[in-house]
Amino acid sequence: MLPSPLCVVYSDRFKEHDTGRHPENAHRMDAIINLLQKSLPPESVLWKEPRHTAGEELAWIHEKSLIQSIKDLAETGGGSVDPDTVVSPASFEIACLSAGAGLAGVDAIFNREARRVFIVSRPPGHHAMPSVAMGFCLFNNIALAARYAQKQYGIERILILDWDIHHGNGTQAVFYEDPTVFFISTHQHPLYPGTGFPHETGKGQGKGFTRNLPFPPYTDPEIILEAVQETLDEVVPRFKPELLLISAGFDGHREDPLGNWRLEEKHYTALTDMARAQANRSCEGRVLSFLEGGYNLTALADSCLAHCQALFKK
Ligand SMILES: [Zn+2]
Repeated sequence: MLPSPLCVVYSDRFKEHDTGRHPENAHRMDAIINLLQKSLPPESVLWKEPRHTAGEELAWIHEKSLIQSIKDLAETGGGSVDPDTVVSPASFEIACLSAGAGLAGVDAIFNREARRVFIVSRPPGHHAMPSVAMGFCLFNNIALAARYAQKQYGIERILILDWDIHHGNGTQAVFYEDPTVFFISTHQHPLYPGTGFPHETGKGQGKGFTRNLPFPPYTDPEIILEAVQETLDEVVPRFKPELLLISAGFDGHREDPLGNWRLEEKHYTALTDMARAQANRSCEGRVLSFLEGGYNLTALADSCLAHCQALFKK
């Protein structure tokens, strides 16, 4: 069977993570999925359900005490782990499902069901640190998927490109001393969480395998795109990744309420095209993309559609 051009991993259960009045809410899922279902050619998309992930897998990247504390908080009725980050009674289970969505996506790629995968899940993941949940994120979905691809499919080198407007501090922390996962993040600075300086380049064996590209508010989108392109052109031929993962946040959109960048749908198309071209060069075209932020529902859905349409291309 020929692989589908695109696999989208999604479950309605992601709406059960109840954050109350919060920018990261269940309406995000409906906005994205309704538009994708209406606009993408049905014969070209493989819709896939996530699978659950167990504590054992989460412990590859998280301290057991963090996993247990989220579980305990959910079981006792929920609460907040910080002013931004909410745990509802269903949140532990749904966070495990959100992390498991990435694993289902990795399986789809290596079982040759699809070459490109978009994970539409919540809670998002890139701020989740090994021992701390923060920034709307409980578990680090993209970091777990990278580890899983290595353990399950013997993939040695993985490139993570994070273009959410916030620095992917959790993902950086997981792989900071690891030369097998190259982490590139472009983000607004200054902005939450305050990390992601150019001098943060990795540590020990991982020195040189983290690259941060911070830009101030209102930066011309073309400058951001150029920096990402230059960095990919330099890193990919040298590092030779076998799998490309994207932390696709769409909160750099000009309409987004949480950031001050000026990206539009066409810029997300351009970023996706860059990633796809690099994956074709080095990774047999394999791209696995994770929804992170994006809080203006119309801009978010339109940007996700542009992203998927660019993932479709050869
Ligand atoms: Zn963000």
